[in-house]
Amino acid sequence: MTDKPIDYALIDTHTHFDDFVFDEDRLSLATAAYGSGLRHLLLIGYLAKYFERMRQTQQQLSSYSHNIQANKAAVPKVYLASGLHPAYIFEHTEADLDCLAQFLQRHPHVAIGEIGLDTFSDELKTDESLKKQKRFFSAQLDLAVEHQLPVLLHIRKAHAECLALLKQHSYKATELGGIAHSFSGGEQEAKAFVKLGFKLGVTGQITNTNAKKLRRAITAVVEEFGLQSLVLETDCPDMTPVCCQQGSTPTRNVPGNLGFVLQGLSELLHVDKATLAQQLWQNSCEALKVDWPYPA
Ligand SMILES: [Zn+2]
Repeated sequence: MTDKPIDYALIDTHTHFDDFVFDEDRLSLATAAYGSGLRHLLLIGYLAKYFERMRQTQQQLSSYSHNIQANKAAVPKVYLASGLHPAYIFEHTEADLDCLAQFLQRHPHVAIGEIGLDTFSDELKTDESLKKQKRFFSAQLDLAVEHQLPVLLHIRKAHAECLALLKQHSYKATELGGIAHSFSGGEQEAKAFVKLGFKLGVTGQITNTNAKKLRRAITAVVEEFGLQSLVLETDCPDMTPVCCQQGSTPTRNVPGNLGFVLQGLSELLHVDKATLAQQLWQNSCEALKVDWPYPA
């Protein structure tokens, strides 16, 4: 019989756990995630029409927590980070920006996200798209400054433009924190974001030994800036760690898989999981400007 592996306390800095694909079994997934060490998770916004769904998910899980005695199992604490995602730029309207501003006023948030620039597809690359993306990104950076909240960045094939825009703004990651989520840039870009004060979000992609550019960028950042430049995320239901994939059909990622991301990072960096978990917890708190004590 093999011993149960030791689980470490973790924070999932980026999930879409409010997604409808979790509607059937969200509570059992949440208790399983808690059982595997997950203590806090963030719900990340992308379209204004789902902000309310995020809040309902937060309520569903926190009311479950309040009844631990009856429910006999705990779930991670859930926090909101609403925002308008750049890849959905053609769906966003001015009214959605107002909606975000109101939502931020009405409900406690730990961050604004996910926001940024994305020129991955031909459609997103057009002048019209990029102009609108920059306008929405700027408006949301202003909201972050107004509310003194960190931003969670989504950047795909637009790292230089994103850095330029950040530099034009009064948003200072060294003061407000922030995460470059699911980091996908190269070594130099990784270093540039860390220099600005951002942490890099590491997903299950790190477990993919073919993701050479990513693995090199993360290793290089740690060599230059140390372990304090990283945080973990599942980005569930996407970014399933390699070990959890089944065949060629995409497998739904879940918050309980975060331990596999820790494992992958531990192997890449040759740092033991206990040391890494504690450091990553501290990094997450620093990126979100919160003071969550590391569970004993
Ligand atoms: Zn996301």
